[in-house]
Amino acid sequence: MNGLQYYGAHDIRYNTSIPIPKVTDPNDVVLKVAYCGICGTDLHEFEEPIFFANAATDQGDKISGKKLPLVLGHEFSGIVEEVGSNVKHLKRGDHAVIETTGHCSDRINYYKYNTELENECQSCELGFENTCKDLNFIGLGVDNGGLAQYAKYSSQHVLKVDKKIPLDVGALIEPLSVVHHAIELSGFKAGEDALVLGAGPIGLAALLILQAKGASKVVVSEPASIRRDQAAKLGADVFNPAEFGNLATEELKKLGSRKQGFAKSFDCSGIQATYSTSIQALRAHGVACNVAIWPHKSVAHFVMDVTLEEKTSVGSLGYQTKDFEGVIELLESGKLEIEKAKALITGKHGLRDAVEKGFKELIEHKDKHIKILISPDL
Ligand SMILES: [Zn+2]
Ligand SMILES: [Zn+2]
Repeated sequence: MNGLQYYGAHDIRYNTSIPIPKVTDPNDVVLKVAYCGICGTDLHEFEEPIFFANAATDQGDKISGKKLPLVLGHEFSGIVEEVGSNVKHLKRGDHAVIETTGHCSDRINYYKYNTELENECQSCELGFENTCKDLNFIGLGVDNGGLAQYAKYSSQHVLKVDKKIPLDVGALIEPLSVVHHAIELSGFKAGEDALVLGAGPIGLAALLILQAKGASKVVVSEPASIRRDQAAKLGADVFNPAEFGNLATEELKKLGSRKQGFAKSFDCSGIQATYSTSIQALRAHGVACNVAIWPHKSVAHFVMDVTLEEKTSVGSLGYQTKDFEGVIELLESGKLEIEKAKALITGKHGLRDAVEKGFKELIEHKDKHIKILISPDL
């Protein structure tokens, strides 16, 4: 089959003779890929491997032992091609998405149900697989991902999606699940207001999930006008922090429903200014949730910013299967409008053009795009 394989930094190759995955385990599901999104994490791996780093060593990935090259892509939808004999919730022809995490329970599968591996890490044991000590994803090192004609994973990670959800929107369920997890973790309730800092793909996804979950008001703060316009088109109240300089946080607080700050805030940007604002622009007892992944450097945190009004600062990582279920429910019920979700898609290209028109385009013209999808059928 055709696919995009990762060999190392700046070395992603379009290959046409990759073996088609087949069911080899009774729990396997093989999908014919419809669409796969390119994500900021993929771009980062293109520049410098982080998730793929273990697959580049002799031991291979910590969950699966797989080694490079591997097919990229972890945001994808498809049509079920083949299922193993244990799989009851899916059949050939169903539309589905893959929740792509790999954690302790997957390692047991990869090592042929080796019971010596049953000692799960504490996170997995507590039910937080998304913070597994060896967490990785298919398409980022655990196994081959979705930038190919077919993909395979264990059925516990494969979720059925109603056929009324278009398959291109299906490929957005992964990034929407990232923010769904953060919003659930923050304790957000319908009727509350929220502040989103940064209007990149994750910030805009947060806006859509907050609206779908009944936010009374969502303010998106973003200095880049092209991104601010995208947020406004999706129904956000927008704010340009550059206009107010040092007074930006005070001005932002006035936009909360009672002019005293927001119940919840989501930092989808990851710089000192947005981190500090995410806490300072809250009302008393508000929750600031960091969704951004930072480079390895520390920033200032003034502890009185949380103490004096008993605020909470929390960080959110990835997602769990229940977040995929939550997003699918929002789409199937119409609370998250299909047309609104579709507005996040700013380009569609074939697999062979994925590097030039996907990766390079996103690196060079980041602000112009929200989400570029790649399809083997284009
Ligand atoms: Zn991603
Ligand atoms: Zn674990």
